[in-house]
Amino acid sequence: MPEKDKNTQEGPDIRSNLIKVNMGGDTMFVDPDQYKPQLDHQRELKRMHRKPKNPKPQEWKTEDYSKHKIADYKPFNFVDGEGVRCSLYVSGCLFDCPGCYNLAAQNFNYGFPYTQELEDRIIKDLGQPYVQGLTLLGGEPFLNTWVCLRIINRIRKEFGHSKDIWSWSGYTWDELQKEFVFEERKEENTMMKENVFTGCTIVATGKLQHFTRDEINMKILELGAKPGSSVTKKTNYLICGEKAGSKLAKAQALGIQILSEEEFLNMVVGYEWL
Ligand code: SF4
Repeated sequence: MPEKDKNTQEGPDIRSNLIKVNMGGDTMFVDPDQYKPQLDHQRELKRMHRKPKNPKPQEWKTEDYSKHKIADYKPFNFVDGEGVRCSLYVSGCLFDCPGCYNLAAQNFNYGFPYTQELEDRIIKDLGQPYVQGLTLLGGEPFLNTWVCLRIINRIRKEFGHSKDIWSWSGYTWDELQKEFVFEERKEENTMMKENVFTGCTIVATGKLQHFTRDEINMKILELGAKPGSSVTKKTNYLICGEKAGSKLAKAQALGIQILSEEEFLNMVVGYEWL
């Protein structure tokens, strides 16, 4: 059996087996079996004396790094912005700031996958009249845009602008503006081409991690494509989840393009940014 990834845990209560360590103003959650105070202290002293690694525009892309994972979710808190808030901590960050308050969450594979169940819970919690809004932090929200845009779009759909949304980020405002200008140019170039799925027939098979069957079919429709129930010569893409059976074999025999769920999501993230 492969060794379990120590950064990968299941369920929101991910800190229950970690110990809290405060060092030079940093708060970290570490595995007690692996914690070596002296070595960590030396490393931390070095880390405190260098600058964050801010990127050039478009140097870091969410589709290259994000694993769509969540480090933590904390409903009904008072510390991440104004009023009573729900806070979603996404996993993964490249800034590596001196004094980072959450080193473990710099790992893109840390935590647990963002699921429909979690999203429904966040929406339910935000529905409480005393909750002012959602805070996105991490990790780096702008390197996890698939997760963040998905929950933001749902909040706007369910609550309009009655709930506010905050984000804590390592990007400066100027850097975000430059990313945005780049994306606008990309939009001008790609609007005419539509997206890669427009007009295609797409079939999903197997157990998907992020979608029920109805949800994936809705997503396919949103992309201007047609969801299919069986694989035929007219099928353009097969999205394959776990335990895919005869549809996968048939798609392989017909030479149809097969996408894992991650590959499909990366292509959709590209489309949603356009
Ligand atoms: S941006 Fe935030 S999560 Fe990322 S390294 Fe800096 S303090 Fe840590």
